[in-house]
Amino acid sequence: MKTIGMLGGMSWESTISYYRELNEGVKKALGGLHSAKIVLNSVNFEELEKLQHADDWETTAEILKKSAQSIEDGGADFLIICTNTMHIVAPEIEAAIDIPILHIADATAQKLVEDGITKVGLLGTGFTMEKKFYKGRLTEKFDIEVLVPDEEQRALVHKVIYNELCLGKINDESRAAYLAIINNLRDRGAQAVILGCTEIGMLVSQKDSNIPLYDTTTIHAIQAVKYALDD
Ligand code: GLU
Repeated sequence: MKTIGMLGGMSWESTISYYRELNEGVKKALGGLHSAKIVLNSVNFEELEKLQHADDWETTAEILKKSAQSIEDGGADFLIICTNTMHIVAPEIEAAIDIPILHIADATAQKLVEDGITKVGLLGTGFTMEKKFYKGRLTEKFDIEVLVPDEEQRALVHKVIYNELCLGKINDESRAAYLAIINNLRDRGAQAVILGCTEIGMLVSQKDSNIPLYDTTTIHAIQAVKYALDD
């Protein structure tokens, strides 16, 4: 079994979900007391969040490069960056280490392609919904058309992530607002919606919606387990 490197803490609420899913995945595959081999480096999200909103991606890259190097030094065979947003600096992190990164957008896109989805809605932080690093990758590399919510809806989705979900707060009103936005994406032609922020699965799950939801935390964790067990 390969050792999984987790770059976590963004936020720690979703790192817990990853940790559980990785271990449950290995247990399901191998049975008994088998569990995932993991090296985790968990950052202080307050520092990262301030830099994100100050548009200082260079400093975020410096911090995450150091964390990734310590994960590699700790014996990980490959790396997962446990957040969609911080894949903005995935190229810089990749260049700083010798182990491969399993990119969260690639894992999600591969699943969408497998399921025949060609037009998808995307929920995530404002950075993920607006910048090119994620949408562009889905479109250019996988030929998937990506729809994002309108400006007001994007602001709401972003605010709920930072002011509620990353703090572990689950709010029924926010769930209803998210579901209305998901329905709106469906009405605009999305065949499915990507939960493109690793905390959204704490608020909304498939049982709440009749349109297929692609939870990036689960998809990324399943791919990591497959890769770890594929000898
Ligand atoms: N975990 C979130 C994501 O998947 C947001 C927190 C962050 O900015 O890293 O994008």
